[in-house]
Amino acid sequence: MNIAIIGSGIGGLSSAIRLVKKGHSVDIFERNDTYGGKLGHLKLNKFSFDTGPSLLTMPHLIDELFQMHNENPRDYYNYKKKDIHCKYFWDDKTKFTAYSDKDKYIDEASSKFSFGKDSLIKYFSRSKKKYDLINQLFLYKPINKISTYLNFDTLKALLNLKLFQLFSSLDQVNKNDVGNSYMVQVLNRYATYNGSSPYLTPGIMTIIQHLENHFGTHVCDGGMRQIPASMYDLCCKIGVKFHFNKGVESIVVKDKKATGIMLKNKFLKFDRVISNVDVNITYKKLLNDKTYLPNKNNMSSSALIFFWGINREFKDLDLHNILFSNDYKEEFKNIFDRNDLSSDPTIYINITSKDIKNVSPKGCENWFVMINSPKDIGQDWDKLKTTLRENIIEKINRNLGVNIQDHIVEERVFTPKDISVNTNSYLGSLYGESSNGIFSPLKRHQNFSRSIKNLYFCGGTVHPGGGIPLCIMSSKIVSDLIEKSN
Ligand SMILES: Cc1cc2nc3c(=O)[nH]c(=O)nc-3n(C[C@H](O)[C@H](O)[C@H](O)COP(=O)(O)OP(=O)(O)OC[C@H]3O[C@@H](n4cnc5c(N)ncnc54)[C@H](O)[C@@H]3O)c2cc1C
Repeated sequence: MNIAIIGSGIGGLSSAIRLVKKGHSVDIFERNDTYGGKLGHLKLNKFSFDTGPSLLTMPHLIDELFQMHNENPRDYYNYKKKDIHCKYFWDDKTKFTAYSDKDKYIDEASSKFSFGKDSLIKYFSRSKKKYDLINQLFLYKPINKISTYLNFDTLKALLNLKLFQLFSSLDQVNKNDVGNSYMVQVLNRYATYNGSSPYLTPGIMTIIQHLENHFGTHVCDGGMRQIPASMYDLCCKIGVKFHFNKGVESIVVKDKKATGIMLKNKFLKFDRVISNVDVNITYKKLLNDKTYLPNKNNMSSSALIFFWGINREFKDLDLHNILFSNDYKEEFKNIFDRNDLSSDPTIYINITSKDIKNVSPKGCENWFVMINSPKDIGQDWDKLKTTLRENIIEKINRNLGVNIQDHIVEERVFTPKDISVNTNSYLGSLYGESSNGIFSPLKRHQNFSRSIKNLYFCGGTVHPGGGIPLCIMSSKIVSDLIEKSN
């Protein structure tokens, strides 16, 4: 079959790789002049930055894409496992290092926060059980298809329904099962991995920390940008045709069937069309569907990112660092209820020069400083980013005992509006709809269209969700669905 993929994000690239393996001819249309979507890249003089994801988990899912074509992934990209997941800092000078070695992690937590190890051991094992139960049932299969649920895995999951802690929030589960307030804040943060609030997302989301603590965090030799770059190289090798600077205007539908795409008033016919574009934009712009109503109030968070070239090194910091807010609950209320920023936000500092060569001059560091932010509903971002900059500089100074302003030699800022424009993401949300609410994971858009035959969806805004691993899982679901449709 001839298949068109609109968008060359992780979902689009991985779908192409799978579909070529199944014998199809694939064309990717990308409105930008390069591949990768949210996995972008920025250069500020001698400093280099990834502009999107910074955390790599489950890299074996990427490796599989190469292995299915009998290629050695190590010929394309390489990564190493980190010994330290993240360093956490609080304003009261408490510090916690999250080690990848589970015993070391538990020792550090119990000694730093003076609590018994048993609760954390039980918490980890319960999260693993949850993940094992839903992994095959839910993550690699289409939702809204009865066949997904008619099997032994569903029965097992139903028999263990209580284990999923669906009717408590992640925060309630963490407070109840672990208790210690510092540890609860560390475990609550995982809700942000899919742009949600720990006070609204259900307790089943303890599986997110499992992905990190079980599979580890990794760092790519060439930075995160190396991931789409290596997938692009593989695509070229196996014959995927790329069309850059070709924004698709619409998906053509005849007799309730997708028949191709429109490019600058030119119709191109295809047997199947896959949209890797944000699903809300797909309906509103590419299908011009006036009846489609995005769930605007439940969109995931966005981000305000400061890219700073720093003219010195900080020995106390690692690749991933968190400076926690003093009022975490208030921070999420601001993001999701008031569409505003906190005056004391949690600050994420990612410094790839800690692990990667040639991304900053000698003796310097490249800081990617990210603040979780509300979606873009037309706020005055110039004003907000100026105030935010003052607040975060003050907090960094307090925590690190420096005047960081004196060390910033390069700067660029991305607001939620920029993210929306650069990647064509609805309201600048990083992960499509959030997982706030008990049934929200089940309410994500499915990977196929119910009303338009031959139209499919992949990527972070549809099932099973946002983030690199889940986008790759969506490509498996789409390629399986297309195979069955043939
Ligand atoms: C700041 C930030 C931090 C993040 N942190 C992490 C992290 O640490 N770990 C993690 O796993 N995930 C993270 N994510 C989420 C992750 O980046 C996304 O879930 C994932 O990259 C989305 O991929 P996708 O396949 O949905 O495509 P996208 O990356 O959304 O790409 C869609 C592509 O479609 C193209 N396109 C749009 N409209 C058209 C059109 N009309 N015609 C042709 N092409 C079009 C776009 O240009 C783009 O290239 C982060 C995201 C951001 C922005």
